[in-house]
Amino acid sequence: MSNAQSFDRVPVLMYHRVGTPHDVADGTYCITPGAFAAQMSALAAAGYAALTVDAFADWLDGAPTRCDGRPFVLSFDDGFAGVYEHAFPLLRELGWPATVFLVAGLVGDHDRWMQHPGATRPLTPLLSPAQIAEMAAAGFSFHSHSMTHRSLTALAGSALEDEIAGSRARLQALLGTAVDFFAYPYGHLDSQVVDATRAAGYRAAFSVQPGFNRRDIDRYRIRRLDVFGHDSPRTLLRKIGFGSNDGSLAAVCHYYWSRLTARRG
Ligand SMILES: [Zn+2]
Repeated sequence: MSNAQSFDRVPVLMYHRVGTPHDVADGTYCITPGAFAAQMSALAAAGYAALTVDAFADWLDGAPTRCDGRPFVLSFDDGFAGVYEHAFPLLRELGWPATVFLVAGLVGDHDRWMQHPGATRPLTPLLSPAQIAEMAAAGFSFHSHSMTHRSLTALAGSALEDEIAGSRARLQALLGTAVDFFAYPYGHLDSQVVDATRAAGYRAAFSVQPGFNRRDIDRYRIRRLDVFGHDSPRTLLRKIGFGSNDGSLAAVCHYYWSRLTARRG
């Protein structure tokens, strides 16, 4: 179809669970398989094509990367088993790679960080080593989302090191592949957390700050767009087209208005 093209900015999409939401509020960070399929079809129809996280990092480093469409990176935080059950078959069909950020200390377990005293919500299963191996063989990549999913800005010393460097070592031993990328739990980061991430040898780290990534982006504050379970395909296309978490029409008008006034000023 389209010829490979060069590009100057890359949006990174962030998903969490794929499956059935526990309740209405849960529908923000859990997308049903049907809604996910509709979103992916809309992206494909609009000419988007997923880049691997390695190709994205190579591009950031100046490699003359080309993409068979409008580039974006697809990421899933937390490593829920639903990604294997519901997203993987569809993405394999599309030939789109994705990156899953795993909680190293909870592989094959459940989302125990959600286990608050008095919480009635059931825990959700995370990917098993066998599921991870199957997805890796099909081109998915797996990187770190810490050891236990604690807020890293509350930690220091060896506790912080265990979450960042320790999770990298554990995942590399489990996967047998390089673990070069990190996603900050809850998006919490400060200069101490960033320094520890750099010191642990990660090539880049992903925040939850919205926006596009151009080559001058801080490698340890890569931007991502939050995709919600209730985002319609049209809303998602606006988010990815404008680099904003707000895919409303009002936000799009504001975008054009500020561009117009910026040009005048
Ligand atoms: Zn998370």
